[in-house]
Amino acid sequence: MAEILTASCHCGSVHIALPASAAGVLACHCSDCQKMHGNFNAFLAAPRADIVVTGEASLVWYQSSDAARRAFCGTCGARVVKEITAAGRWLVSAGLIDGPSGKRIIRNLWEQSKPDWYDLPVVAP
Ligand SMILES: [Zn+2]
Ligand SMILES: [Zn+2]
Repeated sequence: MAEILTASCHCGSVHIALPASAAGVLACHCSDCQKMHGNFNAFLAAPRADIVVTGEASLVWYQSSDAARRAFCGTCGARVVKEITAAGRWLVSAGLIDGPSGKRIIRNLWEQSKPDWYDLPVVAP
């Protein structure tokens, strides 16, 4: 059994287990992420097939672009995941991880779209 990270929304309706090998943390500063997260979107990326979701019926989906849809918890509103549909890839919000992750921000995305009220997060070497 591979090592896993566990994540959950604020109300606990949705639990996610993803492989500890998930890529990230990645920080996306694009305008879509700003509008939907109220800030940049920090996430871990893994194939959907490697992720186990409990309480998936609580997820409410929103088609945020032609290529992607995003889900929030219908009870507490936590932003849970962005799905890159064609790639079968899930980007799970890093803030949902329970306990230490052993991860650091390794890359910034869409830096050019960053608003002017914060500096880019420091990227781990
Ligand atoms: Zn919830
Ligand atoms: Zn983004």
